[in-house]
Amino acid sequence: MKRLRRVHPSSESERNMIKIPKSIYQQMVEHAKKESPLECCGILGGRDHAAKKAFELENVDQSSVRYAMAPQEQLKVFEDMERDAMEMVAIYHSHTHTIPFPSEIDVKLAFYPEISSIIISLKEKDAVVKAFRIGREAIYLEEIEVIP
Ligand SMILES: [Zn+2]
Repeated sequence: MKRLRRVHPSSESERNMIKIPKSIYQQMVEHAKKESPLECCGILGGRDHAAKKAFELENVDQSSVRYAMAPQEQLKVFEDMERDAMEMVAIYHSHTHTIPFPSEIDVKLAFYPEISSIIISLKEKDAVVKAFRIGREAIYLEEIEVIP
């Protein structure tokens, strides 16, 4: 088994921080619970590392250990975001039985190192939400600021 890459502590707070309104934060947790035991997945649209809207997508893999978004559905979300002058600020998915840390598959399928990868873990009684930047060389932990 391959070793997990090291998590580097955040250095530039501005770049390594994502702001999420409380309502969107709760929506992601509810989405994760609704789909459990399967993984859920979705996209956060917004601007300047601040989320404005959550788009819930279907996990076409219908799996409890991995997820995949349908390209057609993803395209529609990109169009919706563009119309509302938003950009993709994060991709989120859930881990229904494991800790909130990118799996080997997550690392392999991380095509957007410049946006946040949010993981909602339902392993414990209370959901735990963490954000990462998954780059080619390392995984960076990102701070989540929940805003009103
Ligand atoms: Zn994962």
